[in-house]
Amino acid sequence: MRVIAAELSHETNRFSVVPTDLAAFERSGIHRGEEILQVLRDTATPIAGFQDAADALGFELIPVIAVWATPSGMVTEHALETLLQELVDGIASAGQIDGILLGLHGAMVAEHVDDADGYILRRVQQAAGPNVPIVATLDLHANISQQMVQQADLLIGFDTYPHVDQRERGMEAGQAIVRIINEDWNPVSALVKPPMMPTSQNMTTATDPMHAIFERVHRLEDTPEVLNVTVAGGFPPADVEEGGVSVIVTTNGDESLAHTLANDLAGFCWSRREEFLGGVSSWDEAADAIAGMKRGPLVLVDIGDNPWTGGPGDSAELLRFLLTQRVRNAAVAIIRDPETVRFCLEAGPGTQVELSLGGKTDDLHGEPIDVRGYVQTLSDGQFVNQGPMHAGVSVNLGRSAVLRCDGVQVLVTEHAETPIDLNIFRRHGIEPTELRVIALKGKGHFRASFEPIAERVVLVEGPGITGSDLGRLRFERVRRPIWPLDDDAAFE
Ligand SMILES: [Zn+2]
Repeated sequence: MRVIAAELSHETNRFSVVPTDLAAFERSGIHRGEEILQVLRDTATPIAGFQDAADALGFELIPVIAVWATPSGMVTEHALETLLQELVDGIASAGQIDGILLGLHGAMVAEHVDDADGYILRRVQQAAGPNVPIVATLDLHANISQQMVQQADLLIGFDTYPHVDQRERGMEAGQAIVRIINEDWNPVSALVKPPMMPTSQNMTTATDPMHAIFERVHRLEDTPEVLNVTVAGGFPPADVEEGGVSVIVTTNGDESLAHTLANDLAGFCWSRREEFLGGVSSWDEAADAIAGMKRGPLVLVDIGDNPWTGGPGDSAELLRFLLTQRVRNAAVAIIRDPETVRFCLEAGPGTQVELSLGGKTDDLHGEPIDVRGYVQTLSDGQFVNQGPMHAGVSVNLGRSAVLRCDGVQVLVTEHAETPIDLNIFRRHGIEPTELRVIALKGKGHFRASFEPIAERVVLVEGPGITGSDLGRLRFERVRRPIWPLDDDAAFE
């Protein structure tokens, strides 16, 4: 049994002015052929799970291409077509194949196609022929379309946020494709989309409402006729027709059961919708929380400029707040500012500098901040995550500098990345457990590593395109009415 494996994923924020071109994918690393497994074999990723299944069940995995890029603006037509052509050519030249395993995100938008994941699946199906089954993993923040469901034999979404089960879901996909190839399974899927598009600050699966929703998911998956249940919370800033929450129930050949169960579960998601709102403190409340804490660290997270939601990463708001509050022993990750990094590299470590930091990409992420400080450390910005999320995965921040400004150490990088792992600090000689305030740009993924060491977590929302305030974004494509944009959204 010979099965193709590939990953081609991106989470696209239509409101970002930073296009996602081929160079953006190259920065995260484009892996090809056997090199894919050399790089990803022992990582917490779907590809590693595909290989786990191949090892356990004795099928041959043929890796073709594995590539992703940090969330950002529209994927260029050239980038998507180039990468997809490589995948399609790899399928064509692989000889006799029995199945295809794909790692997709589910919220990719390209210049020439809104439902880029559906398009990828369609092109892959055309290349492989109608009798070759396709099973794909999806992110919990996918905007799942009917086309995606139709073009795949089975879609398996992550069940966790932070996404710590990527390898397990990859394994599940690998097991599923063997059952489909052997014709034990005849998957029939129903997709139901309640008209709701929540933002993700309250979407973590350790807490309600997602905790309650996934309890139902797992109970349904214990039913013998049910092969998989996927709930995706959606990714609003992709602004696509089929944005928002998706529920897929896949049964073994029972179409009406799939529809009934998917409808019920979608109704349950709808009934819990108000719980997705809120969870964000004002800057004044954050100041009070810092004043009132004991040992620390307090983890302060700005959700307005989150690189993994497509923020440019160059808002200086966290630093401005910490300096104004005269907080000592704090660190900020990250402010993306290639110009400042170059300046610090030329100045050298230990040099006093005066510069204008951040706020340079557009006029949506606040003003630059004028700071005086010294260059504490310089690095190539390369490190490996310790996990749990993305354990073993290499991160490339680009060349980086730690600036010390009064009591605050600020990590300035060439590339935008979301800090999800303690090693982003340790790589730069900063011990996060010893800080009073750890200031991060993020939304939920930071929790896997930072919540266990935090006395308290406080979310705030600075300027930017990635926060909970959807009123800042001018939606044009998503179907209306949809909650919470429209009061008249209703679900039967
Ligand atoms: Zn996600």
